[in-house]
Amino acid sequence: MKIFVTGGCGFIGSNFVIEQINRGNKILNFDKLTYAANQDNLLEINQNFNYTFLKGDITDSEKLSSAIKEFNPNIIINFAAESHVDRSIDGPKEFINTNIIGTYKLLQCSLDYYDNLSKEYKNNFKFIHVSTDEVYGSLGEKGSFKEISPYRPSSPYSASKASSDHLVNAWHHTFNLPTIITNCSNNYGPYQFPEKLIPLIIISCLNGKPLPIYGDGTNIRDWLYVTDHCNALDSVINNGEVGETYNIGGNEEKTNLEIVNIICSILDKKIPLKDKLKYSDSIVYVKDRPGHDFRYAIDSSKIQNKLNWQPQYKFEDAIVKTIDWYLNNQSWWEKIINNKYSLNRLGSK
Ligand code: NAD
Repeated sequence: MKIFVTGGCGFIGSNFVIEQINRGNKILNFDKLTYAANQDNLLEINQNFNYTFLKGDITDSEKLSSAIKEFNPNIIINFAAESHVDRSIDGPKEFINTNIIGTYKLLQCSLDYYDNLSKEYKNNFKFIHVSTDEVYGSLGEKGSFKEISPYRPSSPYSASKASSDHLVNAWHHTFNLPTIITNCSNNYGPYQFPEKLIPLIIISCLNGKPLPIYGDGTNIRDWLYVTDHCNALDSVINNGEVGETYNIGGNEEKTNLEIVNIICSILDKKIPLKDKLKYSDSIVYVKDRPGHDFRYAIDSSKIQNKLNWQPQYKFEDAIVKTIDWYLNNQSWWEKIINNKYSLNRLGSK
Protein backbone atom coordinates (compact mmCIF):
# COMPACT_ATOMS: atom_id res chain seq x y z
CA MET A 1 0.00 0.00 0.00
CA LYS A 2 1.02 3.60 -0.56
CA ILE A 3 -0.17 5.68 2.35
CA PHE A 4 -0.13 9.48 2.33
CA VAL A 5 -0.03 10.45 6.03
CA THR A 6 -0.62 13.96 7.32
CA GLY A 7 0.65 14.78 10.82
CA GLY A 8 2.94 11.74 10.97
CA CYS A 9 5.46 13.47 13.26
CA GLY A 10 2.95 13.78 16.11
CA PHE A 11 2.16 11.25 18.80
CA ILE A 12 -0.33 8.88 17.12
CA GLY A 13 0.89 9.60 13.60
CA SER A 14 4.48 8.58 14.38
CA ASN A 15 3.36 5.36 16.11
CA PHE A 16 1.23 4.64 13.02
CA VAL A 17 4.04 5.40 10.55
CA ILE A 18 6.51 3.11 12.37
CA GLU A 19 3.93 0.31 12.43
CA GLN A 20 3.08 0.67 8.74
CA ILE A 21 6.72 0.83 7.63
CA ASN A 22 7.32 -2.36 9.64
CA ARG A 23 4.41 -3.93 7.75
CA GLY A 24 6.21 -3.15 4.45
CA ASN A 25 3.98 -0.29 3.28
CA LYS A 26 5.21 2.87 1.57
CA ILE A 27 4.64 6.16 3.44
CA LEU A 28 4.81 9.82 2.55
CA ASN A 29 4.62 11.82 5.78
CA PHE A 30 3.37 15.39 5.17
CA ASP A 31 3.77 17.39 8.37
CA LYS A 32 4.00 21.10 9.18
CA LEU A 33 6.32 20.44 12.14
CA THR A 34 4.40 22.46 14.73
CA TYR A 35 5.47 22.50 18.38
CA ALA A 36 3.78 19.06 18.80
CA ALA A 37 5.84 17.42 16.06
CA ASN A 38 9.04 15.54 16.75
CA GLN A 39 11.19 14.03 14.04
CA ASP A 40 13.10 12.12 16.73
CA ASN A 41 9.99 9.91 16.99
CA LEU A 42 10.81 8.48 13.59
CA LEU A 43 14.56 7.89 13.98
CA GLU A 44 14.15 4.11 13.83
CA ILE A 45 12.59 4.21 10.35
CA ASN A 46 13.64 7.48 8.72
CA GLN A 47 16.38 5.82 6.65
CA ASN A 48 13.97 3.16 5.38
CA PHE A 49 13.62 3.31 1.59
CA ASN A 50 9.82 3.06 1.93
CA TYR A 51 9.67 6.26 4.01
CA THR A 52 9.63 9.85 2.75
CA PHE A 53 9.14 13.02 4.77
CA LEU A 54 7.88 16.28 3.33
CA LYS A 55 7.50 19.41 5.42
CA GLY A 56 4.17 20.99 4.52
CA ASP A 57 1.00 22.57 5.82
CA ILE A 58 -2.38 21.02 4.98
CA THR A 59 -3.73 24.54 4.44
CA ASP A 60 -1.26 24.94 1.54
CA SER A 61 -3.34 23.47 -1.33
CA GLU A 62 -0.65 23.87 -3.96
CA LYS A 63 2.04 21.95 -2.09
CA LEU A 64 -0.47 19.39 -0.83
CA SER A 65 -1.91 18.75 -4.25
CA SER A 66 1.43 18.25 -5.98
CA ALA A 67 2.68 16.01 -3.14
CA ILE A 68 -0.40 13.78 -3.39
CA LYS A 69 -0.24 13.55 -7.19
CA GLU A 70 3.46 12.79 -7.22
CA PHE A 71 3.20 10.12 -4.51
CA ASN A 72 0.11 8.50 -6.06
CA PRO A 73 -1.31 6.95 -2.86
CA ASN A 74 -4.18 4.51 -2.50
CA ILE A 75 -4.73 5.65 1.11
CA ILE A 76 -4.78 9.19 2.49
CA ILE A 77 -5.00 9.32 6.29
CA ASN A 78 -5.39 12.59 8.14
CA PHE A 79 -3.81 12.88 11.59
CA ALA A 80 -2.77 16.52 11.15
CA ALA A 81 -4.47 18.66 13.77
CA GLU A 82 -4.07 20.97 16.69
CA SER A 83 -4.90 18.42 19.37
CA HIS A 84 -4.77 19.93 22.87
CA VAL A 85 -8.03 21.17 24.45
CA ASP A 86 -6.22 23.53 26.84
CA ARG A 87 -4.40 25.25 23.97
CA SER A 88 -7.72 25.64 22.14
CA ILE A 89 -8.96 27.65 25.13
CA ASP A 90 -5.90 29.93 25.08
CA GLY A 91 -5.90 30.36 21.30
CA PRO A 92 -8.63 28.82 19.12
CA LYS A 93 -7.40 30.38 15.86
CA GLU A 94 -4.91 27.66 14.87
CA PHE A 95 -7.58 25.03 15.64
CA ILE A 96 -9.97 26.64 13.19
CA ASN A 97 -7.19 27.05 10.67
CA THR A 98 -5.72 23.55 10.68
CA ASN A 99 -8.61 21.39 11.85
CA ILE A 100 -11.34 23.01 9.74
CA ILE A 101 -9.73 24.93 6.86
CA GLY A 102 -6.90 22.39 6.63
CA THR A 103 -9.32 19.45 6.45
CA TYR A 104 -11.34 21.29 3.79
CA LYS A 105 -8.20 21.87 1.68
CA LEU A 106 -7.11 18.26 2.14
CA LEU A 107 -10.54 17.05 1.04
CA GLN A 108 -10.48 19.24 -2.06
CA CYS A 109 -6.98 18.12 -3.05
CA SER A 110 -7.90 14.48 -2.40
CA LEU A 111 -11.04 14.77 -4.50
CA ASP A 112 -9.17 16.40 -7.34
CA TYR A 113 -6.66 13.53 -7.20
CA TYR A 114 -9.35 10.82 -6.83
CA ASP A 115 -11.46 12.10 -9.75
CA ASN A 116 -8.50 11.62 -12.08
CA LEU A 117 -7.69 8.04 -11.04
CA SER A 118 -8.40 5.04 -13.24
CA LYS A 119 -11.50 3.02 -12.34
CA GLU A 120 -9.43 0.18 -10.94
CA TYR A 121 -7.31 2.47 -8.75
CA LYS A 122 -10.47 4.27 -7.61
CA ASN A 123 -11.83 1.01 -6.20
CA ASN A 124 -8.77 0.70 -3.96
CA PHE A 125 -8.72 4.28 -2.73
CA LYS A 126 -9.79 5.41 0.76
CA PHE A 127 -9.59 8.69 2.64
CA ILE A 128 -9.42 8.06 6.41
CA HIS A 129 -10.09 10.90 8.84
CA VAL A 130 -8.80 10.35 12.38
CA SER A 131 -11.11 12.02 14.87
CA THR A 132 -12.03 11.98 18.53
CA ASP A 133 -14.83 10.89 20.86
CA GLU A 134 -14.89 14.49 22.16
CA VAL A 135 -17.16 15.48 19.23
CA TYR A 136 -20.05 13.77 21.06
CA GLY A 137 -19.80 16.09 24.08
CA SER A 138 -20.19 15.07 27.69
CA LEU A 139 -21.97 12.06 29.23
CA GLY A 140 -23.54 11.72 32.67
CA GLU A 141 -22.85 8.76 34.98
CA LYS A 142 -24.29 6.23 32.51
CA GLY A 143 -24.32 5.43 28.78
CA SER A 144 -21.70 5.48 26.03
CA PHE A 145 -21.15 7.11 22.66
CA LYS A 146 -22.35 5.19 19.63
CA GLU A 147 -21.67 6.09 16.00
CA ILE A 148 -25.20 7.49 15.78
CA SER A 149 -24.89 9.65 18.91
CA PRO A 150 -25.52 13.34 18.20
CA TYR A 151 -22.58 15.70 17.94
CA ARG A 152 -22.44 18.08 20.92
CA PRO A 153 -18.88 19.41 21.06
CA SER A 154 -18.09 21.78 23.91
CA SER A 155 -14.49 22.98 23.55
CA PRO A 156 -12.97 24.90 20.64
CA TYR A 157 -10.88 21.75 19.97
CA SER A 158 -13.85 19.36 19.85
CA ALA A 159 -15.95 21.87 17.87
CA SER A 160 -13.18 22.14 15.27
CA LYS A 161 -12.88 18.34 15.04
CA ALA A 162 -16.69 18.03 14.80
CA SER A 163 -16.65 20.54 11.91
CA SER A 164 -13.96 18.54 10.16
CA ASP A 165 -15.99 15.32 10.55
CA HIS A 166 -19.04 17.03 9.00
CA LEU A 167 -16.93 18.24 6.08
CA VAL A 168 -15.59 14.72 5.50
CA ASN A 169 -19.12 13.27 5.49
CA ALA A 170 -20.28 16.03 3.12
CA TRP A 171 -17.44 15.27 0.67
CA HIS A 172 -18.53 11.65 0.70
CA HIS A 173 -22.25 12.27 0.25
CA THR A 174 -21.96 15.14 -2.22
CA PHE A 175 -18.85 14.32 -4.23
CA ASN A 176 -18.56 10.52 -3.69
CA LEU A 177 -15.10 10.72 -2.15
CA PRO A 178 -14.62 7.31 -0.46
CA THR A 179 -14.15 8.44 3.13
CA ILE A 180 -14.17 6.77 6.54
CA ILE A 181 -14.15 8.55 9.91
CA THR A 182 -12.82 7.08 13.15
CA ASN A 183 -13.67 8.55 16.55
CA CYS A 184 -11.28 7.36 19.22
CA SER A 185 -10.98 7.85 22.97
CA ASN A 186 -7.90 9.18 24.84
CA ASN A 187 -4.65 7.58 23.72
CA TYR A 188 -1.50 7.04 25.76
CA GLY A 189 1.90 5.46 25.09
CA PRO A 190 5.36 6.33 23.70
CA TYR A 191 6.06 9.72 22.04
CA GLN A 192 3.12 11.62 23.56
CA PHE A 193 3.82 15.33 24.00
CA PRO A 194 4.18 16.13 27.74
CA GLU A 195 1.23 18.57 27.81
CA LYS A 196 -1.17 15.58 27.89
CA LEU A 197 -2.23 14.09 31.25
CA ILE A 198 -0.27 10.82 31.39
CA PRO A 199 3.17 12.03 30.22
CA LEU A 200 2.66 15.28 32.16
CA ILE A 201 2.18 13.37 35.40
CA ILE A 202 5.02 10.89 34.79
CA ILE A 203 7.49 13.65 33.89
CA SER A 204 6.33 15.94 36.71
CA CYS A 205 6.89 13.10 39.20
CA LEU A 206 10.40 12.53 37.83
CA ASN A 207 11.15 16.27 38.13
CA GLY A 208 9.74 16.74 41.65
CA LYS A 209 7.04 19.08 40.32
CA PRO A 210 3.48 19.47 41.65
CA LEU A 211 0.89 17.13 40.09
CA PRO A 212 -2.04 19.32 39.02
CA ILE A 213 -5.56 17.88 39.20
CA TYR A 214 -8.26 19.93 37.46
CA GLY A 215 -11.29 20.56 39.72
CA ASP A 216 -11.95 17.59 42.01
CA GLY A 217 -10.41 15.02 39.65
CA THR A 218 -13.65 13.10 39.10
CA ASN A 219 -13.86 13.69 35.33
CA ILE A 220 -13.84 10.37 33.51
CA ARG A 221 -12.11 9.42 30.26
CA ASP A 222 -11.79 6.13 28.39
CA TRP A 223 -8.15 5.21 27.71
CA LEU A 224 -6.65 3.27 24.79
CA TYR A 225 -3.01 2.26 24.29
CA VAL A 226 -1.75 3.91 21.10
CA THR A 227 -0.72 0.59 19.48
CA ASP A 228 -4.31 -0.59 19.77
CA HIS A 229 -5.47 2.60 18.04
CA CYS A 230 -2.94 2.07 15.23
CA ASN A 231 -4.10 -1.53 14.80
CA ALA A 232 -7.71 -0.36 14.66
CA LEU A 233 -6.75 2.12 11.91
CA ASP A 234 -5.01 -0.69 10.04
CA SER A 235 -8.26 -2.72 10.18
CA VAL A 236 -10.19 0.28 8.90
CA ILE A 237 -7.72 0.77 6.03
CA ASN A 238 -7.95 -2.88 5.03
CA ASN A 239 -11.57 -3.76 5.72
CA GLY A 240 -13.47 -0.59 6.67
CA GLU A 241 -16.56 0.23 4.67
CA VAL A 242 -16.57 3.48 2.75
CA GLY A 243 -19.01 6.09 4.08
CA GLU A 244 -18.95 4.58 7.58
CA THR A 245 -17.83 5.87 10.96
CA TYR A 246 -16.14 3.64 13.54
CA ASN A 247 -15.87 4.38 17.25
CA ILE A 248 -12.65 3.10 18.82
CA GLY A 249 -12.19 2.73 22.57
CA GLY A 250 -10.40 0.72 25.22
CA ASN A 251 -13.28 0.05 27.60
CA GLU A 252 -11.04 1.44 30.33
CA GLU A 253 -12.88 4.27 32.04
CA LYS A 254 -10.89 6.03 34.75
CA THR A 255 -11.21 9.30 36.65
CA ASN A 256 -8.30 11.70 36.25
CA LEU A 257 -7.52 11.25 39.94
CA GLU A 258 -7.36 7.46 39.51
CA ILE A 259 -4.91 7.89 36.62
CA VAL A 260 -2.65 10.12 38.69
CA ASN A 261 -2.77 7.77 41.70
CA ILE A 262 -2.00 4.71 39.53
CA ILE A 263 1.06 6.44 38.03
CA CYS A 264 2.21 7.57 41.50
CA SER A 265 1.92 4.11 43.02
CA ILE A 266 3.83 2.47 40.13
CA LEU A 267 6.62 5.05 40.49
CA ASP A 268 6.62 4.57 44.30
CA LYS A 269 7.70 0.98 43.60
CA LYS A 270 10.06 1.65 40.69
CA ILE A 271 11.87 4.73 42.03
CA PRO A 272 11.01 5.14 45.73
CA LEU A 273 11.35 8.65 47.16
CA LYS A 274 13.44 9.27 50.30
CA ASP A 275 12.02 9.66 53.83
CA LYS A 276 8.90 7.61 53.16
CA LEU A 277 7.54 10.34 50.89
CA LYS A 278 5.03 9.30 48.23
CA TYR A 279 4.67 10.78 44.72
CA SER A 280 0.98 11.39 45.45
CA ASP A 281 2.03 13.85 48.22
CA SER A 282 2.67 16.29 45.34
CA ILE A 283 -0.95 16.27 44.09
CA VAL A 284 -2.43 19.78 44.01
CA TYR A 285 -6.01 20.61 43.12
CA VAL A 286 -6.14 23.50 40.65
CA LYS A 287 -8.94 25.54 39.09
CA ASP A 288 -10.99 23.38 36.76
CA ARG A 289 -10.71 23.62 32.96
CA PRO A 290 -13.45 25.95 31.66
CA GLY A 291 -16.27 23.88 30.09
CA HIS A 292 -14.62 20.64 31.28
CA ASP A 293 -16.65 17.68 29.94
CA PHE A 294 -17.58 15.32 32.79
CA ARG A 295 -17.40 11.91 31.15
CA TYR A 296 -16.58 10.20 27.86
CA ALA A 297 -17.24 6.51 27.21
CA ILE A 298 -17.11 4.71 23.88
CA ASP A 299 -19.20 1.86 22.58
CA SER A 300 -16.81 0.22 20.11
CA SER A 301 -18.96 -2.84 19.37
CA LYS A 302 -19.31 -1.87 15.69
CA ILE A 303 -15.58 -2.07 14.89
CA GLN A 304 -15.30 -5.17 17.11
CA ASN A 305 -18.13 -6.98 15.31
CA LYS A 306 -17.67 -5.76 11.74
CA LEU A 307 -13.88 -5.55 11.49
CA ASN A 308 -12.94 -8.06 14.16
CA TRP A 309 -10.76 -5.55 16.01
CA GLN A 310 -10.24 -5.68 19.77
CA PRO A 311 -7.90 -3.84 22.10
CA GLN A 312 -4.96 -6.11 22.99
CA TYR A 313 -3.62 -4.12 25.91
CA LYS A 314 -5.14 -3.79 29.37
CA PHE A 315 -4.66 -0.43 31.03
CA GLU A 316 -2.92 -1.95 34.08
CA ASP A 317 -0.21 -3.49 31.85
CA ALA A 318 0.13 -0.79 29.20
CA ILE A 319 0.49 2.00 31.76
CA VAL A 320 3.53 0.18 33.19
CA LYS A 321 4.92 -0.19 29.64
CA THR A 322 4.30 3.52 29.08
CA ILE A 323 6.01 4.57 32.33
CA ASP A 324 8.98 2.36 31.45
CA TRP A 325 9.20 4.03 28.04
CA TYR A 326 9.40 7.52 29.62
CA LEU A 327 11.96 6.24 32.14
CA ASN A 328 14.10 4.77 29.35
CA ASN A 329 13.75 7.76 27.03
CA GLN A 330 14.60 10.62 29.33
CA SER A 331 16.59 12.51 26.68
CA TRP A 332 13.49 12.48 24.40
CA TRP A 333 11.35 14.40 26.89
CA GLU A 334 14.16 16.48 28.42
CA LYS A 335 14.75 18.08 25.02
CA ILE A 336 11.06 19.03 24.91
CA ILE A 337 10.79 20.40 28.43
CA ASN A 338 14.04 22.37 28.01
CA ASN A 339 13.14 23.88 24.64
CA LYS A 340 9.40 23.81 23.99
CA TYR A 341 7.18 23.27 26.99
CA SER A 342 8.13 23.50 30.66
CA LEU A 343 5.14 21.60 32.14
CA ASN A 344 3.27 24.85 32.88
CA ARG A 345 -0.51 25.10 33.21
CA LEU A 346 -2.36 25.91 29.98
CA GLY A 347 -5.97 26.84 29.25
CA SER A 348 -7.01 28.20 32.63
CA LYS A 349 -8.64 31.37 31.24
P1 NAD B 1 -0.27 15.67 17.99
O1 NAD B 1 -0.63 17.03 18.45
O2 NAD B 1 0.69 14.86 18.80
O3 NAD B 1 0.33 15.74 16.50
C1 NAD B 1 -0.25 16.49 15.49
C2 NAD B 1 0.68 16.50 14.29
O4 NAD B 1 0.04 17.22 13.23
C3 NAD B 1 2.02 17.20 14.54
O5 NAD B 1 3.08 16.43 14.02
C4 NAD B 1 1.89 18.52 13.80
O6 NAD B 1 3.11 19.06 13.34
C5 NAD B 1 0.96 18.12 12.67
N1 NAD B 1 0.22 19.29 12.14
C6 NAD B 1 -0.46 20.22 12.85
N2 NAD B 1 -0.97 21.15 12.04
C7 NAD B 1 -0.61 20.79 10.77
C8 NAD B 1 -0.85 21.35 9.50
N3 NAD B 1 -1.54 22.49 9.35
N4 NAD B 1 -0.36 20.71 8.42
C9 NAD B 1 0.38 19.58 8.54
N5 NAD B 1 0.64 19.02 9.73
C10 NAD B 1 0.16 19.61 10.84
O7 NAD B 1 -1.64 14.89 17.80
P2 NAD B 1 -2.02 13.38 18.15
O8 NAD B 1 -2.31 13.27 19.60
O9 NAD B 1 -1.03 12.48 17.52
O10 NAD B 1 -3.42 13.26 17.39
C11 NAD B 1 -3.46 12.92 16.00
C12 NAD B 1 -4.89 12.97 15.53
O11 NAD B 1 -5.68 12.05 16.30
C13 NAD B 1 -5.55 14.33 15.70
O12 NAD B 1 -6.35 14.57 14.59
C14 NAD B 1 -6.40 14.18 16.95
O13 NAD B 1 -7.53 15.02 16.89
C15 NAD B 1 -6.79 12.73 16.87
N6 NAD B 1 -7.05 12.08 18.17
C16 NAD B 1 -6.14 12.16 19.18
C17 NAD B 1 -6.39 11.49 20.38
C18 NAD B 1 -5.39 11.52 21.52
O14 NAD B 1 -5.68 11.00 22.60
N7 NAD B 1 -4.19 12.07 21.33
C19 NAD B 1 -7.56 10.75 20.54
C20 NAD B 1 -8.47 10.68 19.47
C21 NAD B 1 -8.19 11.34 18.29
